Amino acid sequence: MQLRVLPLYVLFFLACNTANRTASAPAVPVTLADRPKNIILLIGDGMASPQVTAGLYWKGVGKSVWERFRIVGFHKSHAHDECVTDSAAGATAFACGQKTKNGAIGMVPPDYTPCRTILEELDAQGWATGMVVSCSATHATPASFIAHQDIRAFTESIAEDYLSTPLDCFVGGGKGYFDDRPDKKNLLDSLRQRGYIVQSGLGFGRLPVNGAAPFMLFTADREPQSALAGRRYLPEATGKVCEYLQKRSPKGFFLMVEGSQIDWALHANDALWLKSEMLDFDATVATALRFAETNGETLVIVTGDHECGGLGLNRDVNKNKFAPAFAARLHSAAMVPVYAFGPKAELFSGIYQNTDIYFKMWDALGLPALATQNSTLKTQN
Ligand code: MG
Ligand code: ZN
Repeated sequence: MQLRVLPLYVLFFLACNTANRTASAPAVPVTLADRPKNIILLIGDGMASPQVTAGLYWKGVGKSVWERFRIVGFHKSHAHDECVTDSAAGATAFACGQKTKNGAIGMVPPDYTPCRTILEELDAQGWATGMVVSCSATHATPASFIAHQDIRAFTESIAEDYLSTPLDCFVGGGKGYFDDRPDKKNLLDSLRQRGYIVQSGLGFGRLPVNGAAPFMLFTADREPQSALAGRRYLPEATGKVCEYLQKRSPKGFFLMVEGSQIDWALHANDALWLKSEMLDFDATVATALRFAETNGETLVIVTGDHECGGLGLNRDVNKNKFAPAFAARLHSAAMVPVYAFGPKAELFSGIYQNTDIYFKMWDALGLPALATQNSTLKTQN
């Protein structure tokens, strides 16, 4: 009987729809522009599919940010000459569109010369640029967007490279690499002379959030706390910096955000630490997504640079849970998922090289990329 079947069907449909609503409804429905003005690239260091899966179940199905993305792809993370990448070569691939050797910061083959990063180039073309991270400014991932050094351990030289690009804002640790150095230089004084507001702590209260001046907000002298120990600034800082960058240039902005310590929890094979970092990153991505949903001109890309820890999600005696297990203390070659939202998000579906993320960002903006694809590892097995 049609009349009896139909109401049941409608009830079922409504129930499912309601369950999905909190997870998928945009903050304010907006019409997306044809092209993005702004790009937010969020990198979960060490984060591949198992880490995202764990984060999703820890947060709770329907509550996690991951299921809100409709466009998902995968990148092949390998370095120029090794199947398993480190974070320096991984971030240089995103920043410059070039595969390089492990440990190199914004330096690429064949002669290991500096490559111009997308952040540096957009900055030069009038975009506002920023970085928000849970590591120090000199750590491999943020460094690869602004510095050019053969070896990632050259932290003092990396800090000096921050003086070469007029980055609009930085939030993260590493103040000591600028003002407590073996060479006794005080780079913070140099930054102040260039008009930067430099501040330590977590408060945005005295910062030029109206876009009036560039700023550096140092959240730690060296590396910031772990999320497990109480670090909480990444989500809020991401939201504040989006608002700031939007006011800073009418042309648009490029923002790189890193959940830096996901990788450190994995190296330590510490599941509790990993859980706290994944939940922190979930909230951070949700903040960026909320900004993009209301803004309509912002492309959000979320990915990792490589897998780490060989994370397994095993059967637990409690059937409603999984048991995290680690097969390694180092990085692995697993493909890394890419999530995209906003104008031109569809470019990020499929399987491609990590370097293609650079080219796809330029493509999305409708501007020519500076780099051309370089050689890639011929994998065996
Ligand atoms: Mg990193
Ligand atoms: Zn690592």
